[in-house]
Amino acid sequence: MTKKLNILIVAGDGIGPEVTSEAVRVLKSVAEMGGYDFQFRHELIGGVAIDAHGTPLPQATLHAALASDAVLLGAVGHNKFNALPPGERPEAGLLQIRAALGGFANLRPSFAWPGLSSNSPLRPEVVEGADILFVRELLGGLYFGQPRQWDKQANAAWNTMRYTRDEVVRVAKVAFELAGKRRKKVTSVDKANVLEVSQLWRATVTEVAQQYPGVALEHQYVDAMAMHIMNTPRSFDVVLTENLFGDILSDEAGVITGSLGMLPSATIGGKVDLYEPVHGSAPDIAGKGIANPIGAILTAAMLLRHSAGLDQDADAIEAAVKKVLDQGYRTADLARGDKSAQVLSTTDMGSRVAAALNEIIDRRQAMHAV
Ligand code: NAD
Repeated sequence: MTKKLNILIVAGDGIGPEVTSEAVRVLKSVAEMGGYDFQFRHELIGGVAIDAHGTPLPQATLHAALASDAVLLGAVGHNKFNALPPGERPEAGLLQIRAALGGFANLRPSFAWPGLSSNSPLRPEVVEGADILFVRELLGGLYFGQPRQWDKQANAAWNTMRYTRDEVVRVAKVAFELAGKRRKKVTSVDKANVLEVSQLWRATVTEVAQQYPGVALEHQYVDAMAMHIMNTPRSFDVVLTENLFGDILSDEAGVITGSLGMLPSATIGGKVDLYEPVHGSAPDIAGKGIANPIGAILTAAMLLRHSAGLDQDADAIEAAVKKVLDQGYRTADLARGDKSAQVLSTTDMGSRVAAALNEIIDRRQAMHAV
């Protein structure tokens, strides 16, 4: 069987193109080994799109995204645009493409990779074994709610956190479905002791939970949750949040893995699914060839799992990453506190993972042939 997949690559700014090339390298390996037909098209987004076309999300990019089977995004953002209003900055391109594709559930796994615990600021006995999947609502809440304004004359500004019951139901269902395939627990995060919008959130999630009797539900206030993630990360399975709370808590949970560069994400539920590493364009290390491509590579694994049903190949990519880390290879961000680490450049890490992946798939194919 030939699996055909049209993938739009929008590498964006800063380290975006550097890490995305390594993710594409790994996808090409999977296609070659599996006999799949993956087509890659490249378009601009973010600061590079402003430079070329005066807008962070050109029409050509939007049309190509809507015509693709999946979109793989690197990162957007450049310091030279910092003085622009939010709606004209590179980051606006990201919010626009997310809204246009319509994905409402942002999946952000945070996993304590064996051997990397010395890199985390948390004690190894706290992080080892932690495996959290954040399900963050991505199209509602404070980032999209109206009215929003900075009234300079009045010297006041406001944003609106707004949710409808239906918006909460659809993202809660994704969280319960995924928890059913994992350790069967959902922790829903809100601020229901203060915010009406959180009271609606909590009541709706509690109602949805009735349809999933095999999955346990607990509620946590967001402030307490920020502490629990640091103290007892192992006690969480699927964590369901609204947009802003999920943005903050999933970055916080990045310390479990030891680096923001290790974190992948997928946004599902819309017309076309969108895949992007959690990190930004990292202007401080852009162009130096030292960015960690593993978050982008693991993002490619999520793409294969959620947009193509290629679970075995997604597992093989994750196993390849584990193998390379077990061999002691690190990028600079992962080598902190580990004197025996063999520090690799972005491209060398990508080649090591691709080589390990080829071996793993070779072995799998040989076993199937017996
Ligand atoms: P950032 O994620 O770019 O960087 C934070 C820190 O983590 C930096 O020290 C950086 O060097 C490090 N880091 C990030 N990714 C890494 C990787 N793959 N390997 C090694 N180290 C890595 O966040 P920031 O500095 O707050 O933002 C920089 C720009 O990126 C801003 O313009 C911001 O708006 C934008 N941004 C974009 C996205 C996105 O495209 N999804 C997300 C967050 C921030």
